[in-house]
Amino acid sequence: MRMISTRAASPPVGLAEALLAGLTPDGGLYIPEILPRLRPTDFDGAEDLPQIAERLLAPFFTGQALAAELPAICREALDLPLPLLATKDPRIRVLELFHGPSAAFKDFGARFLAAAMRRLRAPGADQQTVLVATSGDTGSAVAAAFHRQPGFRVVILFPRAGVSPRQAHLLSCFGDNVESYAVDGSFDDCQALAKAAFADRELRARRPLVSANSISLGRLLPQMAYYAQAALEIWRGCGAPAHFVVPTGNLGNGLACLWARAMGLPIGQIRLACNANHAVVDYLTLGRREGHASVSTLANAMDVGRPSNLERLAALGPERRAGLAAGCVDDATIRATIVAGPERYGQIWCPHTACAIALAERAIASEEPGPWIVAATAHPAKFETVVEPLIGQPVPIPSSLAPWLTRPAEAQPLAADYPALRKALLAA
Ligand SMILES: *Cc1c(COP(=O)(O)O)cnc(C)c1O
Repeated sequence: MRMISTRAASPPVGLAEALLAGLTPDGGLYIPEILPRLRPTDFDGAEDLPQIAERLLAPFFTGQALAAELPAICREALDLPLPLLATKDPRIRVLELFHGPSAAFKDFGARFLAAAMRRLRAPGADQQTVLVATSGDTGSAVAAAFHRQPGFRVVILFPRAGVSPRQAHLLSCFGDNVESYAVDGSFDDCQALAKAAFADRELRARRPLVSANSISLGRLLPQMAYYAQAALEIWRGCGAPAHFVVPTGNLGNGLACLWARAMGLPIGQIRLACNANHAVVDYLTLGRREGHASVSTLANAMDVGRPSNLERLAALGPERRAGLAAGCVDDATIRATIVAGPERYGQIWCPHTACAIALAERAIASEEPGPWIVAATAHPAKFETVVEPLIGQPVPIPSSLAPWLTRPAEAQPLAADYPALRKALLAA
């Protein structure tokens, strides 16, 4: 299958090219030419996530350089625990997406992309630099995925004052082929620096750069698989479609759920839970696509004012956006939802998951009794400075995170101006 641009002015490309590219030449985003339809019975015999992912993604890999490698990529990258848990409230279940090495859902996409890129590398090719600007979770997922992979160097840019202390540690503790820079500026500054590097031809001739940011198709496609797995589990149990609530920032995770539904997985309603950043809500209710300057919230990984994937959502067309709605959740509600978590659900929520819980509660009260499956996007231990004071108890550190937290961590300071980054990129 070929990948096309959301803007239609760029020629179609093969999957491998789309995986390695950031934007399309016409400034759009790559999307599959079609979303093939599968039936639940097409997954008969596929039980775990790697097996389900392999069946789901096979149509995109047919005839492509990586086709024969797909089973190995799925096994290597997606063999992570994926519990679908009941809570004390029968109307709400939780799909925990945070059991990978960086304790956030971004591990699935980052690991898949790394496994694919490793196989696309020609033997003896120049070292490639994976350059990522991160607001927190992407950087550590990408670092963990590429850590000690021969032929790759990872350079992470994060806003010095914009991440939680534990996120900062995680971003800076890898060492080896991973360099992290604490930028004296905001996430937008980090993104502007990365963009300047990607636009610098002379630099790229000397230091080949690859992108692993959240618009990468190599991260989006595998994210469909966990929705497929959860929906099939419900379908096989009771023959009913599953309804999902997805914490949403740049809209990559929510879009994966929509794509899975468009491919025929038994998924019913989809709700996108946003924090105070309201661009997705504006789009779905008013048709406005321009977005706004981002505002800081307790759910910092969702502080996105201009979600890139709105462009892919628009490309889906109105009929595939049926049964879709979005809602905003303010910081006061995030706090109250975290406070109520242990008593009401027997669960500790991270601030992002709390947005989705709050939206599920709204849906249950007003329209659709569910049950709803809430995508839990990060382990609460990553946001302990927010969560612990609210629940009045320590959050246990998961075994995936513990080894990283005992490593020494050191980020290098970086001024928010491009010559400083350029020099650092050329230094190694
Ligand atoms: C990145 C992130 C989100 C937002 O996901 P998008 O794909 O950008 O919508 C939500 N929660 C957590 C914990 C994240 O790290």
